[in-house]
Amino acid sequence: MKVAIVALQGDVREHAAALTDAGATPVLARVPEQLDGVDAIVLPGGESTTMSLLLASSGVGDALAERLDAGTPVFGTCAGMILLAREVLDGRADQRSFGVIDIAVRRNAFGRQVDSFEADLQVDGLGREPFPAVFIRAPFVDRAGDDVEVLARVAEHPVLCRQGNVLVAAFHPELSADRRLHRLFLEGV
Ligand code: GLN
Repeated sequence: MKVAIVALQGDVREHAAALTDAGATPVLARVPEQLDGVDAIVLPGGESTTMSLLLASSGVGDALAERLDAGTPVFGTCAGMILLAREVLDGRADQRSFGVIDIAVRRNAFGRQVDSFEADLQVDGLGREPFPAVFIRAPFVDRAGDDVEVLARVAEHPVLCRQGNVLVAAFHPELSADRRLHRLFLEGV
């Protein structure tokens, strides 16, 4: 299974390692043609405003929009989650979001004093063993539409959501040694 990682900015290597461990072949996509013929796509964490600019200047953004319209499964983590959301709160006016999952995401939502933290998450569908989740200037979901499954929360805030073949995490599963979320994503592809 070939999985493109949008490789313009952010933690691309870590996703490549996680996908390889989970049994897929990662393809680092820096130009639009590198999205051709892949079975699934990962949008990594990083900085959504910067990624938005690079998506436009590289042409990868339009190719990505086409693939998403065609229903290619996608996993967005942190900044990637922001880019896939229907609505971005506290975003920059010019930042693009692809609107393929019906959530409103608030950027940097956990506030300054807890910019970064780890939490053991109870995840629906992963069994009883908690998932060790790393949050870095993370967003959370302010509103999730009726068709969105919330798979995990921190306090009352959704941080892992799925709608059809769109999976989004507010945290960085690729930074944990635990590969269950990458496997869960690949099982749906
Ligand atoms: N705060 C970042 C943003 O707005 C996301 C942080 C991350 O991806 N770790 O894009």
